Amino acid sequence: MTTVIPAWSLPTIEVAGESARFPVRRIYCVGRNYAAHTREMGGDPTREDPFFFAKPADAIVANGATLPYPPATRNLHHEIELVVALKGGGANVPAGKVMDLVYGYAVGLDMTRRDLQNAAKAGGKPWDMGKGFDRSAPVTAIQPAARIGHPSKGAIWVKVNGVVKQSGDLADMIWSVPETLSYLSGLVELAPGDLIFTGTPDGVGPVVAGDTLEGHVDGVGDLTIRYA
Ligand code: MN
Repeated sequence: MTTVIPAWSLPTIEVAGESARFPVRRIYCVGRNYAAHTREMGGDPTREDPFFFAKPADAIVANGATLPYPPATRNLHHEIELVVALKGGGANVPAGKVMDLVYGYAVGLDMTRRDLQNAAKAGGKPWDMGKGFDRSAPVTAIQPAARIGHPSKGAIWVKVNGVVKQSGDLADMIWSVPETLSYLSGLVELAPGDLIFTGTPDGVGPVVAGDTLEGHVDGVGDLTIRYA
C-alpha cells in the first residue's frame, strides 16, 4: 500500500518476557469506578451504569520515560489504574465470556488536565482535551494473563516523590473487569489491540515539573514516570 503522506508507526507496548510487542488499537477509560474516588469527584457512588471516555492510541508512553509537563494546564493530575489489553473482540459479549478476549494486564496512569476537565464538566462540554492529550497514558509492559491470571484483588497505589498519594485495592472496583468489558461491548464492538483503563482509587492530586511518579499493582508491575 502506498500512502499520500508518510505512514506513522503503529503504537505498541512491550510484553513482559516476549520479544514481540502488543499493538494498540484504541484506548477506552472507565470513569468513577471506585466509590471513594467517585465521592471525591463530587459524584454519588451508587451502581449507576459505567461511563467511558477515550484517549488516542498514540497517547501511550513507555515505562521509565521522562515527559514534558503538558501544555494548557496548571493542574495536571495522576490517576493510577489497572489496564486490560485485549486479544479478541466482539459486540454484546456476556460477562461470563468476555474474559476470553483478554490478552493481559498492565499498570497505567490516566494523566488528566483536571482544570480543563472541570471547565468542560461545568460547561457541559466534552472531556477530550482534559483526558486525551499527548503522552496522557503512561503504561508498563503487559503481563500476559496466561502467566499471571486475571487479577481481581490486590493493592494498587501511586507515590509522588516517594510519598503515597493513592492507595486502594482492585477488589474495591464498583464494576469488575468482566462487567466493565461486557458493558463496553454493548457500546462499541471490542477489538484486538484495545486497551481499557479500569478507573482509579481516591487520592488523585497534582503533579508538577520535577516530580517522579511510581505506580504499582500487585502481581502486574511497577511504573515509573518523571516530569522534566
Ligand atoms: Mn481515570
